[in-house]
Formats: sequence, structure tokens, C-alpha cells
Amino acid sequence: MPSIPFDNTYAQLPERFYVKQAAAQVPSPDLIQINRALAEELFIDPDWLQSPAGIGMLSGNDMPEGADPLAQAYAGHQFGGFVPELGDGRALLLGEVVARHGGRRDIQLKGSGLTPFSRGGDGKAALGPVLREYLLSEAMHALGVPTTRALAAVTTGEPVFRQDGPLAGAIFTRVAASHIRVGTFQYFAAQRDTAAVRELADYAIARHYPECLGTSGQPVAAAPYLAFFRAVIESQAQLVAHWMALGFIHGVMNTDNTSISGETIDYGPCAFMDAFHPDCVFSSIDVQGRYAWGNQPNIAYWNLTRLAETLLPLFDPDQDKAVAMAKLELDTFSDRFSDLYFRRFREKFGLADDAPDSLIQDALSLMANQSVDYTLFFRRLTQCASGESGGLLSDLFDDPEPFDEWFSVWSAHALPHGAVDRMRSANPVLIPRNHRVEQAIAAAYAGDFSVFHRLLGVLAHPYDDQAENEPYERPPTPDEVVHATFCG
Ligand code: AMP
Ligand code: MG
Ligand code: MG
Repeated sequence: MPSIPFDNTYAQLPERFYVKQAAAQVPSPDLIQINRALAEELFIDPDWLQSPAGIGMLSGNDMPEGADPLAQAYAGHQFGGFVPELGDGRALLLGEVVARHGGRRDIQLKGSGLTPFSRGGDGKAALGPVLREYLLSEAMHALGVPTTRALAAVTTGEPVFRQDGPLAGAIFTRVAASHIRVGTFQYFAAQRDTAAVRELADYAIARHYPECLGTSGQPVAAAPYLAFFRAVIESQAQLVAHWMALGFIHGVMNTDNTSISGETIDYGPCAFMDAFHPDCVFSSIDVQGRYAWGNQPNIAYWNLTRLAETLLPLFDPDQDKAVAMAKLELDTFSDRFSDLYFRRFREKFGLADDAPDSLIQDALSLMANQSVDYTLFFRRLTQCASGESGGLLSDLFDDPEPFDEWFSVWSAHALPHGAVDRMRSANPVLIPRNHRVEQAIAAAYAGDFSVFHRLLGVLAHPYDDQAENEPYERPPTPDEVVHATFCG
């Protein structure tokens, strides 16, 4: 029996979709963490995964039977500027497995060395970003948001050189529904390779949106590609509404970081907000605020428009007609997003369906004006709704007067106590706070991984109300506030 039941389909696509590439050898790999539960879901024996043979794979030193490592080709708009060739510059798709739930999953190494797409980069990853992606993606999963997962992280025993000097090197093993991005479509569309766009769309439909096909594998509708586009619009609207309800800022919503499957992908300079502000940005390179919390739906719409451009030749041979069809679909985004967004916020605020949207907007404005901690606000509002005193909530506001006014209107519209369970499941107690993530990374660079392990454990149960986790609930003190997070 092979150690991993690889069943690779992307490698069967035409050769221009990827470059077959072996991983670099690293001097002395050491395991940081494996995700046993996820391994089991993928029919991988967790004990094998942490054995020398398993670590051989996780470090790229030794490929098991059935692995067929390749770097995927893609393009992308980075901060609005089109780059016709990006591709996996430091990642390799090892292959796919069909998981216990029946879904196909990619297994990918990130930080595994140079590929033909590396451009000026070194193909490597530093320990900090690897731990950050591990913590953030697993926290997102526990919070219920579609996301790529962390299967493992290893150190390589080799330094990587970044702006501030040498850092410990590491490799992350990522599991995803797939790594097909808006940018993958753009790669072929930019080359006017309509045959490849069609083949990629057929592949993505079969893998992610089979409902666009009939049971016989024949298209149900006259326009399966339009149905596919509609499905991607829906999954992006769902995803971004979910992010925003949790105070999550992706940070780099470039088209190459927008997954067709609707998963959150590529945890670089992302963050959960502490103090609320709709203009909040964490990436140090996002000087324009393009990817600010409140701008995420606009960017999702912009990215979906870029996807539509690639699909036009598939929509209709008459391009004027195709453009009209695409516009009709794109026009649905705004209302659909808004509906999903307010639905999530009604749950967070414990409001009846007929409560006015202005009640939500007013609260967010108050929070923004007074820099109120986002997660703590909803946590304490939930406590209020379950009958605890409102004092702790109003304490979050330096000037309680406008808040008190809002609170009395809220009380009039709030659902009865029975609805508090809905609030609890919409308002996490624990999020991966930036200062906690940074503490875990700093300790790991100093050789102590216990802070990382503890934090990972705590974040696995974000809706549990446990007294011993109170320190992890706390917002940062002024000297702990993290203003920017970095990729690399
Ligand atoms: P990202 O900003 O992570 O979405 O990456 C954008 C592009 O840069 C992708 O094509 C990556 O493969 C590439 N890239 C990022 N970091 C490196 C690196 N250290 N070496 C080579 N390529 C990289
Ligand atoms: Mg990326
Ligand atoms: Mg990245």
C-alpha cells in the first residue's frame, strides 16, 4: 500500500498548465507540527506522516510513491496591475487525494525551492510566515470559514535571507480543494488560448461545481459556463461576507489569490482587526488601502469582473452578447453580497429580520469613532443578550452617551433570549489576535515552539467560553498592538 493514496488529475491536463519540478533538498528537516485529524481525513496515517519517510516528503527531500510534483502556471492582477506570468514560484503541487468526505484535495508544499516561476525569489519560506499561515488557516477552519488547511510544518535547518537578515527556513504543507485561481484563467486568456480556458473551466466545473452539469455529465443548461460563473460569484459573495462578519482582512486580494473553489487562500499580510475601523489595512505594502476591511466586497467584484473577461469566448461566440450576459451576472453581486452581509450581522447583533439596517451601520460607526475592539464588542453584546449586565459592554466606549442611546434602540429590536444561541455561534470568543500570533512567532525564532502549540490548541475551539482562555480573548495593550503584518 502506498503511504499516500495519490490520485492525480491536474497532472493529466495539458503540459502548458504546469511545469514538472522536483523539490530542493534541505539539510536537516525537523517536524514542528502535523495535523493528525486532517491526515486521517485524507487517508494518511499520522504516524507515517511524522516518521522519517513522512518528514522526507514534508521537507521535499524524499517523495513517496505516486507523488508527481509540479509548479502550476498562473497569472494575476497584483494591486490592480496585470502580471501575465506568476505561477508557483515557491510551491509544488505533490498530487491529489480523495478525502473521506468524498472531496478531492490538493497537497502542496510551500517553500520547497526554485521553480521556473521563481523570478527574482529564492523559492523558500521563512519560519514566521509558515507558522502564521498554520495558525490563521486552522483558526479560520475552526471559525467555520471555507479555507485551505494546514497539514504540517517543518523547519529545514537552512537559513533564508530576508530584508532583516537570515531567518530560520521552513516548509508548509497546504491542503486545498484546489489551487485554481482567477489568475489561472487569466494566464491562458492573456495568451488568447481559448482551448485552454475551456479545458480549465471544464476541469473546474467537474471538480467544484458539478451541479453545472447534468447527471449524465451533459450540460443541464444551454450555458454551463455561465452557470459556473454564477457559482463562483455566489461563493465569493459568501466568503467575503463571512470574512467581514469576523473582522478578517485578507490583505492581498489579488486575482492570483482568489480561489475558484471559494476557499480563503494565501495567508500573507492578513489579520483579524482588533479596534474596528472600516478603513483598517494591515499589509505594509497596501499604502492606498485597496484591500481595507470595508473595500473587500468591491475588490471581490473587481476580481470577478476579471474572471468574466476570461470566460467571454465561452459564453457566446457573439462577444457583444457575451458581454451582456456577463454584465447581467455581475450585476447580481452587489445585492447578493449585501443580503449575505446583513444576514450575518443580524445574527451577530441578535436582531430580528425586520430590524433596520441602520441599527447595524450606526453601531459600526460608533465602534469606528471610538476604536472599540471588534470581537470583544460582539462577545459582550452576546453576554448582555443572555441576561448579563450591560456595564461591561458600555465600558468599551470612552464616551458612553451615544452608545447608550444606540443600546436602547437595539434592546427594542433584539430577539428574545432564546435567540442567544444564534448570537453565540456568530460571535467567536477567540480569534487569532495579531499580538498573540507575533508572540508565537518570536518565541519560535528563539527556539521555543510551546507558545505556538498552545495558541494552536486554544484556537481550535473559538466559540467555547472557558475561563482559562481569558488571556487569549484580551485585546492587545498599547505596546502589544501590531500595525502591519508581512509576507515572505
Ligand atoms: P503571493 O504574494 O504570495 O501571492 O505571491 C505572488 C507570487 O510571487 C507568486 O507567483 C509566488 O509564487 C511568488 N513568490 C512569493 N514569494 C516567493 C519566493 N520567496 N520565491 C519565489 N517566488 C515567490
Ligand atoms: Mg499567492
Ligand atoms: Mg503568499
